[in-house]
Amino acid sequence: MKILVQKFGGTSVATRDAMQKVLNKVTDGLKRSDKVIAVLSARAGETNKLLALADEWSMTPDSAECDALVSTGEQVSITLFTMLLKDAGIRARSLLSWQIPIKTDSDFGRARIRSIDSGNLRSYLESYDVLVIAGFQGCTEDKRITTLGRGGSDTSAVAIAAVLDSAECEIYTDVDGVYTTDPNICSSARKMDRVAYDEMLEMASMGAKVLHIRSVEFAKKYKVPVRVRSTFSDDPGTLVTQEDSSMEAVLVSGIAYDKDQARVTLRALPDVPGTAAAVFGPLSEKGILVDMIVQNTSNDGHTDITFTVSRKELPQTLELMHTIADKTGAAEILHDVNVAKVSAIGVGMRNHSGVAARAFAALTQEGINILMISTSEIKITILIQEKYVELAVRILHDTFGLDWSID
Ligand code: ASP
Ligand code: MG
Repeated sequence: MKILVQKFGGTSVATRDAMQKVLNKVTDGLKRSDKVIAVLSARAGETNKLLALADEWSMTPDSAECDALVSTGEQVSITLFTMLLKDAGIRARSLLSWQIPIKTDSDFGRARIRSIDSGNLRSYLESYDVLVIAGFQGCTEDKRITTLGRGGSDTSAVAIAAVLDSAECEIYTDVDGVYTTDPNICSSARKMDRVAYDEMLEMASMGAKVLHIRSVEFAKKYKVPVRVRSTFSDDPGTLVTQEDSSMEAVLVSGIAYDKDQARVTLRALPDVPGTAAAVFGPLSEKGILVDMIVQNTSNDGHTDITFTVSRKELPQTLELMHTIADKTGAAEILHDVNVAKVSAIGVGMRNHSGVAARAFAALTQEGINILMISTSEIKITILIQEKYVELAVRILHDTFGLDWSID
């Protein structure tokens, strides 16, 4: 039995008209496979409304009740859509997470999927041609509703595709696919036909918010090919898949950027064992994610440590750093919120050298000062002043020839 998993995002299910387009995609899916599983998001704006409601009711909304509340957005969209399917004569039913079940841990608000009863899903498919499943939600062992984190419906869909050995998981959204960079700031951004899982992971974590990051981790782990495409066009979209030699031939596949950065420097810390642990230990205890880190070479037994955090975590970070500076004897604390990072990403970097040098030279030519640099096997990240970020994206996009297709 061939099963196709299709996921539809908030704008695809926002109105009755949009849902008609979804209906066409599902009907088309039924022509290409025996059964379709449609995983739906809440209608656009609905999850935000429900979260705002919780905040209106309580200063500290109970996390379990909050999940049970926000998960209702998906219940509305799956039931309405199933009505349209039935009116069109299609054998369909809606399913909430507990009816499958999709079991998660009890980390409310960002639960992780532990198991999906694929046998049960298959038995539902004996009676129905289309199952319409609520994305974003799961349930704990003791029958409490959980949610998987914002944008989590992608993860629901990929996880279902993984347990069913579905050939492909289609993620329908309102854009044609994954672009080489943000088309809003770079007019020559190009839709990619294919992108490797690892590249997509880097792009998602850098703020290219097409797919929920965990969905890509799932897809990579279980080798589920994911196709990102639009509900509102017939474009084949972008296939997120395993890397192959043709991808490795391309030096850089995409340019990502993130303006949600703040830089913090601790000046003249004693350069002794335990200093870095004293700085970063308390940050991790508070759950503050540190991104780039640079430690200077020692000068007179002292060193500077610079790192970046997200802007909303800056006040808490500075508070912690004051205590740490007192304890360790750091001379001063500096910070800057007018910074942003730009990254060049590509699996081709694994086998080619000189990418970093080319990126630096291109930025220098435009007089853009580099504040921090970090690199990984498939990514070079540069921290610059925020006012240059759009220019830097365009320059790097151009430097690595991303405006023309090699396929
Ligand atoms: N409705 C949820 C959200 O807005 C999940 C999703 O759309 O993927 O985050
Ligand atoms: Mg989404």
